[in-house]
Amino acid sequence: MNALTLLPTLTAYQCNDCQTLTQRSPMACAYCLGRRFSPVLVTASGTLASWTTIRKPPMRFKAEGIYHVGVFDLDNGMRISGRLLHEATDQTGDRVQAVAIADTASDIPIFKVTSHG
Ligand SMILES: [Zn+2]
Repeated sequence: MNALTLLPTLTAYQCNDCQTLTQRSPMACAYCLGRRFSPVLVTASGTLASWTTIRKPPMRFKAEGIYHVGVFDLDNGMRISGRLLHEATDQTGDRVQAVAIADTASDIPIFKVTSHG
């Protein structure tokens, strides 16, 4: 595994009209149907809501074999999905933080558990 760096923030998209935050820039706001969004930085820590193990990865992850995807409740109230760098001791409700993996580009956020409970 390459070196990990904890990331303090992630980019989210905020509706210019109603301020709703979404993980990816949508075509239209799910709440007010607004079509203008601004990228904003959100704190990239929260708790682990759930996760799933993917045993047949899509082509772009094939080299990595089995991997894990999770749902994360950020401290600002956003619920987002991403990869989970899973360890056997991970449990729902554990604290998580976004990370960057050295020399690895990822278009989806990657999280790891930082403390239990
Ligand atoms: Zn809106």
